[in-house]
Amino acid sequence: MKVLKFGGTSVGKPDRMHSVAKLISSTPDIKVVVLSAVSGTTNALVDISNKLTKKDTKAAEEAIANLFGPYKAFVEELYSTAEGKSKGHAIVKTYHDLIKSYVGAANFGDKETRLFLAQGEIISTNLFQEYLSEQGYSSALLPALEFMKTDADNEPMLDYIETKLNEQLAKHPNKSLYITQGYVCLNSDNEVDNLKRGGSDYTATLVGAALQMDEIQIWTDIDGMHNNDPRIVSKTHPIHELSFDEAAELAYFGAKILHPTCILPAQKRNIPVLLKNTMQPDALGTVISNINTSEGIKAVAAKDNICAINIKSDRMLLAHGFLRAVFEIFERYKTSIDMITTSEIAVSLTIDNTLHLKEIKKELEEFANVEVEDEQTIICIVGNLPREKAGYGFKILESLKDIPLRMVSYGGSSNNVSVLVNSKHKKEALVALNKGLFGY
Ligand code: ADP
Ligand code: ASP
Ligand code: MG
Repeated sequence: MKVLKFGGTSVGKPDRMHSVAKLISSTPDIKVVVLSAVSGTTNALVDISNKLTKKDTKAAEEAIANLFGPYKAFVEELYSTAEGKSKGHAIVKTYHDLIKSYVGAANFGDKETRLFLAQGEIISTNLFQEYLSEQGYSSALLPALEFMKTDADNEPMLDYIETKLNEQLAKHPNKSLYITQGYVCLNSDNEVDNLKRGGSDYTATLVGAALQMDEIQIWTDIDGMHNNDPRIVSKTHPIHELSFDEAAELAYFGAKILHPTCILPAQKRNIPVLLKNTMQPDALGTVISNINTSEGIKAVAAKDNICAINIKSDRMLLAHGFLRAVFEIFERYKTSIDMITTSEIAVSLTIDNTLHLKEIKKELEEFANVEVEDEQTIICIVGNLPREKAGYGFKILESLKDIPLRMVSYGGSSNNVSVLVNSKHKKEALVALNKGLFGY
């Protein structure tokens, strides 16, 4: 059994949906197909929600019309029969009417926003399943809200997902093709929620892990994980093999092709993840597995919107318990720390969740001087870098010799070296590393 996830661009146009249908019907194995929303839809739903939250009714109505208008042509092109088209228009109307019914609502807040954000994947999967049925393929639609759930810490509940997903599959014993929504889940209050932006990848790896599948395939618009961010530097190349650790570091530190934490469920259950290109299905792509990959630096990635906190105290000098006191404050506010560097009298660390920054700062200031700098970027250099090998640190720092470095973290793992730069130096840093490490 396999899970195949198709991202927003892979289902973004009717002919892309046609290609996806061909791709998934080309092999006989049992498949769960996870779809994203049609590209642009989730962004539009975020925008509509913001406008409704601000009670900007006119702008919201306009944005709703702009989102749903193009779905008319989409439906006309997707289906070839009058019956298919009519069913497609009916699907779009249902969700258009649902969204429209909130215009002018007295209370439009977080809960309603989360409900809105789920509709993109609900629309795309309904349209796609109807297309499969028009084309004579037998499939079953599994509602993600019936099995995908997170706990009070917003962590996916893998055992629950396994049980509920099996119950859903058992309802359709004779099918070999199942379609479901990426991204969408229920939270611990049983409200409609999501796995954060880009979360369809996470749905796929959770489904793959829950059902202990043979393989997890993530189909997107590029031929696998590249050595650098192709949106920022002009020359990049695909990497054909990555270990789980290497891929997890790249995803967490900004390689947009993968959701930040989506590798973990696959790694936990040792299921290979394949990154493939829907537009070029024959390209090799990237295989992510538990292999020992060859030695060397493989890729760099960048994570923006990082906040650096410098905590300085005379009392740190030889004081045991200082770091514990610092960490306890972050733990209390459920704020995770990404990078950390220390000196005799100070510690610098980074966070990306600044929701409780004010409270954290206030508590730290009870025993230390605290300086906060935002608009920082973590640049992460990933590969198989054996500890006994000399030269990697030199090569990285030499490549970055003209860029001011705010923090450097080396040795936390043998897969990752991270540096922190002001975000205004991000592009320069990625270009410099592309030249210094990969010769471009
Ligand atoms: P999908 O909609 O299929 O989930 P995404 O847009 O989320 O696709 O991810 C694919 C995009 O990730 C690529 O088009 C590429 O621009 C971007 N990207 C950023 N860093 C990398 C990288 N290191 N390797 C490959 N793609 C990357
Ligand atoms: N549709 C969601 C997003 O745009 C989830 C995804 O595409 O993975 O973030
Ligand atoms: Mg994505």
